[in-house]
Amino acid sequence: MTRLRPVTGPDDPAILEAAAILALGGLVAFPTETVYGLGADGLNPEAVARIYAAKGRPATNPVILHVADAAAARELVSHWSAEATALAARFWPGPLTLVLPASAAVPSIVRAGGPSVALRCPAHPVALALIRAAGRPLAAPSANRSQHLSPTLAQHVASSLGEAVDLILDGGPTEAGLESTILDLTGERPRILRPGPVGPAELAALVGPVDRWEGAVRAGAVQAAPGMGERHYAPRARLDLVAPGTGLREASGAVAYVGLGTLPELPGGVRGILLPLDADAVGTRLFALLHELDDAGFDRIIMELPPEDDAWLAVRDRLRRASAKEMP
Ligand code: AMP
Ligand code: MG
Repeated sequence: MTRLRPVTGPDDPAILEAAAILALGGLVAFPTETVYGLGADGLNPEAVARIYAAKGRPATNPVILHVADAAAARELVSHWSAEATALAARFWPGPLTLVLPASAAVPSIVRAGGPSVALRCPAHPVALALIRAAGRPLAAPSANRSQHLSPTLAQHVASSLGEAVDLILDGGPTEAGLESTILDLTGERPRILRPGPVGPAELAALVGPVDRWEGAVRAGAVQAAPGMGERHYAPRARLDLVAPGTGLREASGAVAYVGLGTLPELPGGVRGILLPLDADAVGTRLFALLHELDDAGFDRIIMELPPEDDAWLAVRDRLRRASAKEMP
């Protein structure tokens, strides 16, 4: 049976136990400041293969390597740029992933056969302590079945992956609640592959203009960037997005309506949920809320679309992909 161990901080003995499991090629789920990660020794191809199997993750979707500091990241790239130095100094530890040309040290399976590697130094004290105790970079995608909701609680990991994980370190709810911003530094200009807690303006202030990833490709089409298939982060319930204030005339089945800032009048039987008009607060809460509504058996979730401004970029991206109907 999967073991779930509460972990109180970086000195908790459970971290040494977890490191021992990783050294043997096992899988350990652990909290980061974004979502829970499913960790394996990032330099052990067999261990990384277990991540793909546990998640049902397509082999075309590479994984992020988590490191303790920029010095460890440099060992994993063939070229570390001045931009990378500036970004790591400003945002690490933190929710920014940098894509750089990989060195020969990075196994092919981590890169999904490609020439680049994605690197991040997480800001959670338990994650950092685990990486240090393991003494190696940890491959750690979100600890959920492929395309499903990301886990913001240890219990989400247990119910999504169950027996496939050797140990789950329970550090309570995650703080940011949305996955890291991914910035590709391998092209002429930095390009955002996935919007996240670090916004485009913050990046541009350091490295000049950044290109944006504009929407995902259609199901079945060749993906322009790995892991960017349209449907992702999806709840079991059907999720529909509506303009603010749209409301609902009538409803059948178990329906929840999520309003932003204000809640319109709703027909009897519809569960109304009010979220604040605050992008960070909604980011922290979003996946947990969708998990709760799934667990409560709702068939349909109607949610108001957030404003178009950059503060909401990451939340809008996750909502768009969570509501995409096609499965690739
Ligand atoms: P997750 O499974 O939520 O941790 O997501 C990891 C994301 O990192 C995936 O969506 C990948 O597309 C992205 N990623 C990992 N490695 C690379 C890479 N070498 N180049 C571009 N994206 C990457
Ligand atoms: Mg994921």
